[in-house]
Amino acid sequence: MAQDTLFTKIINREIPADIVYEDELTLAFKDINPQAPYHVLIIPKKAIETINDIKTEDASLIGQLYLVAAKLAKQEGFSDSGYRVVMNCNEDGGQTVYHIHLHMLAGKEMGWPPYTNNKKVLI
Ligand code: AMP
Repeated sequence: MAQDTLFTKIINREIPADIVYEDELTLAFKDINPQAPYHVLIIPKKAIETINDIKTEDASLIGQLYLVAAKLAKQEGFSDSGYRVVMNCNEDGGQTVYHIHLHMLAGKEMGWPPYTNNKKVLI
């Protein structure tokens, strides 16, 4: 069973967040430290620690995170201009909160490759 993180507290309304979408299975809220003009985190209400912990039975739940991203993109007018969704995994992936979440970034042209850390060098 996954440990409770601050995202569980956001789901349970124990700490505040700028919630932009909610349904039975998911919640989306503004990232507290935005890396783009529009930066929201889309999370499952079920606490899953990392991508490595996703089970086959979670497949439709994970799909729902992307459906929410597309819905928000349509609502906010980013569908055609584009946006990025990314999920970090563990330390090298840059994960800091161990409750999986899809970052949705929009409102500017994204760079590629995405990392800014010199540790990561393509050979
Ligand atoms: P990651 O590093 O991929 O695990 O992403 C965690 C994200 O959670 C970071 O982008 C943080 O800025 C964001 N974050 C941390 N605390 C909060 C909070 N209380 N409300 C909203 N976003 C948060």
